Amino acid sequence: SDDLKAAGAKVFADDRAHVFHSWSAQGAISPLPVAGAEGSWFWDYEGNRFLDFSSQLVNTNIGHQHPKVVAAIQEQAGRLCTIAPSFANDVRGEAARLIAELAPGDLNYVFFTNGGAEANENAVRMARLHTGRSKVLSAYRSYHGSTSTAIALTGDPRRWANDAVGQSTGGAVHFFGPHLYRSHFHSTTEAEECERALLHLEQVIQFEGPATIAAIVLETIVGTAGILIPPPGYLAGVRALCDKYGIVYIADEVMAGFARAGKWFAVDHWDVTPDLITFAKGSNSGYIPVGGVVISQAIRDTFDQRVYPGGLTYSGHPLACASIVATINAMREEGIVEHAAWLGEEVFGPALRELAARHPSVGEVRGVGAFWALDLVRSQETREMLVPYNAAGADAAPMNELGAALKARGVWPFINFNRLHVVPPCTISEADARKGLEALDEALEVTDRYVV
Ligand code: PLP
Repeated sequence: SDDLKAAGAKVFADDRAHVFHSWSAQGAISPLPVAGAEGSWFWDYEGNRFLDFSSQLVNTNIGHQHPKVVAAIQEQAGRLCTIAPSFANDVRGEAARLIAELAPGDLNYVFFTNGGAEANENAVRMARLHTGRSKVLSAYRSYHGSTSTAIALTGDPRRWANDAVGQSTGGAVHFFGPHLYRSHFHSTTEAEECERALLHLEQVIQFEGPATIAAIVLETIVGTAGILIPPPGYLAGVRALCDKYGIVYIADEVMAGFARAGKWFAVDHWDVTPDLITFAKGSNSGYIPVGGVVISQAIRDTFDQRVYPGGLTYSGHPLACASIVATINAMREEGIVEHAAWLGEEVFGPALRELAARHPSVGEVRGVGAFWALDLVRSQETREMLVPYNAAGADAAPMNELGAALKARGVWPFINFNRLHVVPPCTISEADARKGLEALDEALEVTDRYVV
């Protein structure tokens, strides 16, 4: 209706006049005004509905407006909106207990934050104080957040602009993780890639000086930088290197955790127990900003009589904790972790491989659960990326056209350089998943045209 369109215009005008946006040249963006959302869908003020194949920023694992999570927040708001972190609180304790019960090994304590970057920030602080060492190793092809420590650890071009103005903290050292399709080690099999990536990591440790390294921070499955699934044995190898050199192993599960990979924690795929796990996004689908660090007994014991020098006014916020409790319970009651695993095995895996067989621009299909990527190429033979690393402006045109083709078909995409990620809510129905895949099949004709 005209009223709705006028409301949308007002939303847009206020935004353009006063909102400063993330990761953007402020004058170069045109944000879509969103009027509402439910489940796997959201809509604008013009009557357009979008199937969310991005889960926003890969965080609405339980979909939009899940009634049980909304009700828990409403109920908690009526009871107690806020209480300082220094008090004991019912939902805070319950959320921590539920997370500890899901986490592997003796990771039995939770430090709550407001999001993923703060979780990594505090995990690194804990590791530095626990070891008395300062350096932190992390992978190229990674994203760990945009606070100063987290962006310094990040291995994607978003770090460069911060490096350029000296904004990053010191002590971050990068290495290459395993990635067979674009192997940095000239490997031809997963086993070879695993062995060589571990050898490389050990060499980096030895040349940096083991006694200077506090932690290795690793996304269990690399998310934004490519949905890279570690080969069997890699994470166990990282664990062994950390044990050998007294290094803290921090698993960043901000994107991979809470059903996204078809498990509660992605490390469950490989039965590896890190010393610290960071989480955020899927733990409550972002209904209230939250994240945290799950902490091993040994690291918790470091701070038994010694003060932990970190904190946040909203650590363990009751509304956030109530939403985590409701999310975990709903995921259990509705089998959402199992549904995500099933989607990967029965729907996305087979369907995306079938698309790859027909579309020459699809180089590789990678993924598990509701966590998939198409690596798009100019040639399946040379594997030349469809757009170059760090593509922007005219260079990024083929991927921008793919995104536009999907939006025109009512599917909201997640695109990073030459990759399209298929990352819908873990609750998506089979019918909606197939609807999105059909649109993708049509849209890929756009990228096929760039194949040489
Ligand atoms: N770590 C990973 C793996 C992420 O994907 C993200 C966000 O995309 C973060 C950390 C940062 O989380 P936040 O944006 O909540 O600070």
